[in-house]
Amino acid sequence: MKFKIVKVHAVAKWCWQASDDNCGICRDPFECFCSDCKAPGDDCPIVWGQCSHCFHMHCILKWLQSQQVNQQCPMCRQDWVFKE
Ligand SMILES: [Zn+2]
Ligand SMILES: [Zn+2]
Ligand SMILES: [Zn+2]
Repeated sequence: MKFKIVKVHAVAKWCWQASDDNCGICRDPFECFCSDCKAPGDDCPIVWGQCSHCFHMHCILKWLQSQQVNQQCPMCRQDWVFKE
């Protein structure tokens, strides 16, 4: 019996309209997973704030958790509100 191993290269290209191609928190490009995600394929979407800055979801969640009082965008210091 022979098993055929099919390698699937799922290269996910994000589509976004950002002036910056890098996450403002971890500085990794959005086309890569964030530094918290050890391997590609981890669920690491890009999330947007009302201020139009965007970050890896893991990065902004980590950032917001570290904010004791006001949850602000790490880039522009506006109140962080997730954009629907
Ligand atoms: Zn990031
Ligand atoms: Zn991640
Ligand atoms: Zn911002």
